[in-house]
Amino acid sequence: MKQDIIIIGAGPAGLAFARSLVDTGLKVTMIERSPLEQLKAPAFDGRDIALTNLSVKLLQGLGIWSRIQNSDISPIKQARVLDGASPYFLDFDSTEDDIEALGYLVSNNVIRKALYDEVSTIENVEIISNVSVTGLDTNSTRASVRLSNGQTMESSLVVAADSRFSETRRMMGIAASMHDFGRTVTVCRMSHEKPHLNIAHECFSYGRTLAVLPLSGNQSSIVITAPTDVTEQLLQLPDEQFNMDIQQRFENRLGKMELVSERHPYPLVAVHARKFVTTRYALIGDAAVGMHPVTAHGYNLGLRGQHQLANDIKQAIKQRDDIGGSEVLKNYQAKHTRITRPLYHGTNGIVNLFTNDAVPAKLLRKVVLRLSNNFKPVKYLIKQTLTETRLTQKTPLGL
Ligand SMILES: Cc1cc2nc3c(=O)[nH]c(=O)nc-3n(C[C@H](O)[C@H](O)[C@H](O)COP(=O)(O)OP(=O)(O)OC[C@H]3O[C@@H](n4cnc5c(N)ncnc54)[C@H](O)[C@@H]3O)c2cc1C
Repeated sequence: MKQDIIIIGAGPAGLAFARSLVDTGLKVTMIERSPLEQLKAPAFDGRDIALTNLSVKLLQGLGIWSRIQNSDISPIKQARVLDGASPYFLDFDSTEDDIEALGYLVSNNVIRKALYDEVSTIENVEIISNVSVTGLDTNSTRASVRLSNGQTMESSLVVAADSRFSETRRMMGIAASMHDFGRTVTVCRMSHEKPHLNIAHECFSYGRTLAVLPLSGNQSSIVITAPTDVTEQLLQLPDEQFNMDIQQRFENRLGKMELVSERHPYPLVAVHARKFVTTRYALIGDAAVGMHPVTAHGYNLGLRGQHQLANDIKQAIKQRDDIGGSEVLKNYQAKHTRITRPLYHGTNGIVNLFTNDAVPAKLLRKVVLRLSNNFKPVKYLIKQTLTETRLTQKTPLGL
């Protein structure tokens, strides 16, 4: 069976990429390991994704944003970064830049559902679920993909969006740098007595970090990063003790707090593929770059990457070039590497600094917070990186 493009993985990156190809007329097949019911109605997985202003614009352009109900979108108007027990904080405020919000929180399952609902209506995209990719070969003229149902498919290009632990990246011999932080992040939702005023907090307390992110109504998304043994204890704590623990660690800023969801753990491993492309094969989403969630860049970068690759493919079609040829792929790789590499290493550096409890690191943190707060160009740069606001003003779609 010959396709133009085979996409491996119908997660949020793979689905967005399929939607980006809607007007190309290319024959696209998606291969997804999960059953169809999970794609149609993905369960809440604890993740509330902070989307930058650029990501919102990209999702609007793909017709996804209008599929998400207003009550599922929570604007972040201000963000505060705190260090240890100090009341001093680095703050970012959307009103300073005359923008509606620094970013928007939408839960991962809501994004996935909106993407699936949209992509399932596209004629030139077929989604094959409940099937895994078990083998992959490419050469200068075609790519060949073997499936767990015994079928083999051919295409001009294979795009892998099969997670940060991508099996096909390994099959294609692409190495990746992996950084295991030896920590686990636990995510859940809690309700609280007092309003959050749409302020996000990132508290780098010693031993563990706590992010409290504003959702609709008096609810927040809670993100706790801790060494894995501490996480295990946290997961075992009875609800009432857990509620009390978070309430106290957040210094009662939101009054009485109560769990309203399960607690979901994710081991913290960041991944950056050494290259994003090889013969007739490209990596997007977490398969290309899997970020530490502290700077909330993972899916935002995934959206930018898929948009870039789709644009390069559209350009090739216009020029009657090979859509899986090395020119297209090299161009994508160069641009996506330029964007992702500094963010990947910068984020890991921030994590190392803010989770290191040695005295020099604690002192340096205080200097960094004060410098960032008081030195306008530094603050502006951090804010732009976190919100991607300026990029939304550029055309086409900021890239
Ligand atoms: C706790 C947490 C908080 C986060 N917060 C944010 C945030 O605030 N902002 C942000 O931008 N990002 C955030 N992220 C990152 C974001 O969740 C990811 O970047 C995003 O989900 C990656 O999407 P993906 O489609 O690349 O990969 P995945 O979501 O991992 O999807 C991969 C898909 O491929 C399928 N698959 C895998 N192997 C195969 C195979 N061999 N054959 C067929 N199918 C296969 C899987 O079943 C899956 O459906 C967070 C992540 C975590 C863990």
